[in-house]
Amino acid sequence: MMFTVGVVLVAAAVVLFILQPLVKGIHASLERDDDELTETEARKRVALLALRDVEYDFLAGKLDEDDYRSLKSELTAEALAALEADEAAKAGGAGDEALEAEIARLREGLNTGTPCPACAYANADGSRFCSACGHAFAAAVAG
Ligand SMILES: [Zn+2]
Repeated sequence: MMFTVGVVLVAAAVVLFILQPLVKGIHASLERDDDELTETEARKRVALLALRDVEYDFLAGKLDEDDYRSLKSELTAEALAALEADEAAKAGGAGDEALEAEIARLREGLNTGTPCPACAYANADGSRFCSACGHAFAAAVAG
């Protein structure tokens, strides 16, 4: 009995040591409201919690070592990918906004712009020349 408890304690200590940075990450994530979680943060949290569950299941004897190893490597890879995606999303936040503004501008041009008779590029209303091919608009020139 003492032997079993000792083994579990040592295993738990090792797991805690290995997971320490990840567990801190989970707590950091949990401090925020769910509503504030971005998609990448949610993905990161799910991956980390799944990884923790695998550790618990293994310690509880619900997983054999082969399953544990394959699940753990799978989930660790996912957690790392999620962490990187989250970092990239935070670093590239401004870039996303610029991209969305560009997409919105392009959509607006498609809906309201003047399509070029030569190449069909959607130019802004009032353009005298096509921005894409340089074709002169007859209506604009006449007006
Ligand atoms: Zn054109």
